[in-house]
Amino acid sequence: MSASSGAPLMLFNSLTRAIEPFAPIDPAMVRLYSCGPTVYNFAHLGNLRAYVFTDTLRRTLNWKGWATNHVVNITDVGHLTSDADAGEDKMEAAAAVQARSIWEIAAFYTAAFKADLAHLNILHPSLWSVATDHIQDMIGFARALEDHGATYRLEGGLYFDTSRVPDYGRLAGTRPEETVGRIADVEGKRHAADFAVWRASPPGARRQMEWESPWGPGAPGWHLECSVMSLKYLGQQFDIHTGGIDHREIHHCNEIAQNQAFTESAGTGANIWMHNNFLVDRGAKMSKSAGGFATLAGLIDRGIHPLAYRLLCLSAHYRSELEFSGEIVAAALVRLKRLAIAVEQLRAKAADLAWTRILREAKDSRGASFAFQRRTLEDRLDKRGAALIARFDEALSSDLMIPQALPLLEEALADKGMAPEMRLRVAASMDLALGLDLFDVDRRQLSLRPKGAAIAESEVEALLEQRQAARAARDFAASDALRDVLLQSGVEVMDGDPLRWEWRAVID
Ligand code: AMP
Ligand code: ZN
Repeated sequence: MSASSGAPLMLFNSLTRAIEPFAPIDPAMVRLYSCGPTVYNFAHLGNLRAYVFTDTLRRTLNWKGWATNHVVNITDVGHLTSDADAGEDKMEAAAAVQARSIWEIAAFYTAAFKADLAHLNILHPSLWSVATDHIQDMIGFARALEDHGATYRLEGGLYFDTSRVPDYGRLAGTRPEETVGRIADVEGKRHAADFAVWRASPPGARRQMEWESPWGPGAPGWHLECSVMSLKYLGQQFDIHTGGIDHREIHHCNEIAQNQAFTESAGTGANIWMHNNFLVDRGAKMSKSAGGFATLAGLIDRGIHPLAYRLLCLSAHYRSELEFSGEIVAAALVRLKRLAIAVEQLRAKAADLAWTRILREAKDSRGASFAFQRRTLEDRLDKRGAALIARFDEALSSDLMIPQALPLLEEALADKGMAPEMRLRVAASMDLALGLDLFDVDRRQLSLRPKGAAIAESEVEALLEQRQAARAARDFAASDALRDVLLQSGVEVMDGDPLRWEWRAVID
């Protein structure tokens, strides 16, 4: 399928601050660019929300029938410790602290990042675009900016003159003078918002990563790479550019300014700029000092399956803040287990489900096969199933209203008016868009043993069974004693669970 079907897709465009109908430039291929990680440390959970959001967008486009060309960059050079053009280079600083070469740092954290994405069932982009593979392209782009009179030279390198573009800061919704104080002063800068396109190495000092350039040895400014790589792989004007909301204020304004100066046009590079809001951590649980909630690996150590974090992200609209706490993510895990149990129980009742094999393809697909998979799943739907899919489509198409789409999955699984096989077909189609991996992950796999727990999963299950038996025999003393045994081992039994199987790691 080369064009979308179903409800018209509406997306919020940060440029216009309005929800707009989506129409790709090339109906055969949606071109999408997402700002990727700076690989100087593990991604924190907030960063990962940005990639779950992008994956949801990507899956929605694919689910609605479009093929996607999705480019994500890896920033392995040139990102400073603040948005200012002063301060340390994050990569160089990490290399110094960890006594490793900057290249080792980049390779290590790139691999860790990709492992996180795999845990979250995030589809591979069409292309990982690595900044250091594109230095010559960046130098060429910066020369063109200089030729077009959009830059000036300072001792610190080549600077972009933001007064050379007509509506600098439009995306942020601020005027240039409001950016004063936002960007640390660099001697000789003409305007507060001006930024480095090329950062010259200080005289006498050598960076681990530096390249020769017309402006002396140095490294690119970090806004440059996204302009250069999106242009190279997706063209001067492509469909959608994504990033976290913090990028709306500076990074993306600067990318747009560079794009406009390079093309000598008003074109911003992407038709639609989309930004996810932040994961917030009011209880400071995400901070490393508070026990390792900072990273996905930290969650896994606590016995929280990474897909529970994915589900948590899906439970809020991407433009809303999402609060994080141990309780909230534990609740998401319970919700996920219920979904997995519902699928398991229906599978036990349904006849041969040969079609589940094709779902595995979705994991590595570039989206083109989503249409085929949906056709296979939905071709024999009854009226109830088709109506649920239509409502699901409406929710997705309404600026990715996933929090409304999720309950429809629960409704489908629970709808006794449909045969088990029908319910599973609807759920499987929905899960292509949601990516919860419900047909590959069962309840037992979701019950991770917390690193600190003094008990194995099989023992937990055995004790739960004994406790079930005690409760059935109305021997509540024995049942309470078993609950206490589990609690002392770091496992909390959840009695309210109608499925009676629920337990979780004790969250402090
Ligand atoms: P960075 O590696 O710092 O460039 O960040 C990677 C992505 O995570 C960017 O798109 C950021 O905007 C985004 N981001 C950073 N912090 C958060 C947060 N707390 N919640 C959601 N997204 C975030
Ligand atoms: Zn970027």
